[in-house]
Formats: sequence, C-alpha cells, structure tokens
Amino acid sequence: MTATTAGPGSTGPGHIEPRSTGPARTDHPRTEHPGSESRTAELERRIAQDPGGFRVLTGDRPTGALHLGHYFGSLRNRVRLQDLGVDVIVLIPDYQVITDRDTAERLGEYTDGLLLDYLALGIDPARSTVFCHSAVPALNQLMLPFLSLVSVAELNRNPTVKDEIAHSRQSTVSGLMLTYPVHQAADILSCKGNLVPVGRDQAPHLEVTRTIARRFNERYGPVFPEPDMLLSAAPLLLGTDGTKMSKSRANSVPLSATADETARLLRGATTDADRHITYDPVARPNVSSLVLLAALCLDRDPHEVAAEIGGGGAAALKRTVADAVNSHLAPFRARRAEYAKDLTGVRSVLRAGNERANALAEATLDEVREAMGAVR
Ligand code: ATP
Ligand code: MG
Repeated sequence: MTATTAGPGSTGPGHIEPRSTGPARTDHPRTEHPGSESRTAELERRIAQDPGGFRVLTGDRPTGALHLGHYFGSLRNRVRLQDLGVDVIVLIPDYQVITDRDTAERLGEYTDGLLLDYLALGIDPARSTVFCHSAVPALNQLMLPFLSLVSVAELNRNPTVKDEIAHSRQSTVSGLMLTYPVHQAADILSCKGNLVPVGRDQAPHLEVTRTIARRFNERYGPVFPEPDMLLSAAPLLLGTDGTKMSKSRANSVPLSATADETARLLRGATTDADRHITYDPVARPNVSSLVLLAALCLDRDPHEVAAEIGGGGAAALKRTVADAVNSHLAPFRARRAEYAKDLTGVRSVLRAGNERANALAEATLDEVREAMGAVR
C-alpha cells in the first residue's frame, strides 16, 4: 500500500466515493509481495474498514472461455470484494486481443461468454460495472501521455510481455504488444482503480501502472493513485500441460465445460513419476497444482487432501479433482444456462457499463488535460 492509494479518510489522489456495502466472506488473498503478511493484513483491514475507499479495475481478454485459473486467480476475489462493498469494475479489453494475434476472431461470441460467466459467478450489475475498452475513447486517449512516461528499454524488459511474445501467434512484435502494459495502465487509471485482483502473471504489468501513475503525479501534480495488486491463494494455476493455464494455450479447463468434459480434460493433465501424492508446489508443481485445485473447491488444506489420496496415485488424484471441480461449479453452471436464455438482457449489462466507464474516463481525461495545462 502506498501513500497515494486511497484509504480510510483519504482525500488524496484516487479517493473514491462509496457506492454500496454488502456481507463479508472469508477468503484469504495475498498482495503482490506474498512474503509480506503484515502488508496483506493491513490492506485487508483497510478494505474491511472502508470498502468505499477502494475501486477495483481488472478484466479478461475476450480470447476464449474463462477457465479455472481465472476463477481461482481473480474472479472469486472480484465477487468477494464486490460483496464487501468495493466498487468493482470489470473490463473486457477487446483491443488487447490483437496484441498477440492478427485479427480478433469470434470477438462477439467470446464477449457474450465472459458476460455469462461474470453474471453466473455473482458479478451484480446493480453494484458492479462491466465494460469494453473499445467503447471508451477517453481511456484510449490516456495512452498518449502515458507512453511518454516509460522508456522503450523498460518495455523491452517486461517479463510478461516477453512470455506473451514467446507464446504469440505472430512472427514479429507489434507496437501494441510492446505497449500492452501502458494500455493496461490506461485501463486501470482511467477510472482511478486502486486495487487490482489478478494472477501473478500480471505483476510486472501492474508495476508499469504504478510507475506511470507516480511519474505522472511527479511531473504534473497529484492525479492518480498507485494501485495495489491483490493475489489470491492460487495466483498461478497450471494448465493440463504443466504451463500457466491460459485461454490461448489449449491447456485450460473452461468454467463452462460440462462435467464430462471437465473430467476428460483433467484426466489428460500432466503429473509426474512419483505415485505417492504429496503437496509440494516447488518440487512437484504439476501434482501440487491439481491438489490445490481440489483443496480450493473443497475449502480444505491442500496437505490434507494430498495425504488422503496418498498412494492412490495420479488416477485417484484426478478423480478427486474432477469431482471437486464439478460439484463446486454445478450451481454456477446452472445459473449460466439460465442467463444464456436471455442474451439480449445480458448484453444490456455491457451497454450500461460502457456508459459509466465513459463518464469515469472522460472525467479523468479532463483532469489529465488540466494538470498538463492543455487548453481546450
Ligand atoms: P490469454 O491466453 O488470451 O492471454 P489468459 O488465460 O492468460 O488468456 P487473461 O485474459 O490474459 O487470461 O487474464 C485475465 C486474468 O486472469 C488476469 O488477471 C490473469 O492474471 C488471470 N489469470 C489468467 N490465467 C491465470 C492462471 N492460470 N492462474 C491464475 N490467474 C490467472
Ligand atoms: Mg493472458
């Protein structure tokens, strides 16, 4: 947490008017510095004390179906924060689809899928906002001053951009790919988001946002908060091939899959040669990611889950995981099927969200212009 992040009683940059409050839940997320328990506890204490002082901005690219990594890495936290009374804004970053591919295929279909997932998971349009960033010109205009605040060398060093380039479908690196983290800074800062619940892959991007906010404030005066990252208990869920579960890598278990598909996908997950199941994320990342998945669904300690499976081996582990995932997601899948009957209603959530996001981004852009002394 930084001095410029809005908190209880703050009237500094990024202070946010309260919207609503709701009941608390008991997940235990971690902040960007997982070693710092006190920092996490302090952030959680401040959220609980003044949820209206926080605004979440986070989202998912419309590049495929949301998966278990999204759910345990970020989505569950979003719903928890919403229910605590935090203003949650969820972005469907459609322009960012073309950072690592030539065209945005099936954009409408994937966007509908994300909306269905959000609603079925408990994102409540009466309290939270969902928008698409191609619908918000002022957000995209923030890219221009922000680009002047980072060097090409800094962008070239970004490990997440490097990883995304390595997995990209393009033979050359586009300017949009290189400036992806700057665009994300525009996303977050367009609405002065100060809390970002994301997976660990986003840590380097969030550092760029914090740097841009700090440099802008130093150069032009205090306008932006320096947002905090909130990691969950599963900040990097592995896919069935043992690398980060990703929509684009054909290694994911979609939330919307059927129970049979889920069991089949999990049966194909990579494990290791040791038949005895243990929970040891460092030495046995693949097995441990599966154990963690079961533990999260069952709300149990992963060591206990592993000990119970013990000599049952990978087959028993995969059965346990599939059963746990399927029962955990059954109510979500039922709600999703209901929402799918009214796609017109579902799409209206996005239209309303776009309107609010435009109002927020235009107000921010006005402040930016004023701070820079631009005459209109
Ligand atoms: P793509 O392959 O298109 O990049 P993705 O699966 O990486 O898709 P994103 O839309 O890039 O998904 O990420 C959306 C959010 O979900 C981000 O906050 C990201 O950190 C989080 N997330 C994605 N995959 C995982 C994962 N395997 N474990 C934990 N969090 C994840
Ligand atoms: Mg990604």
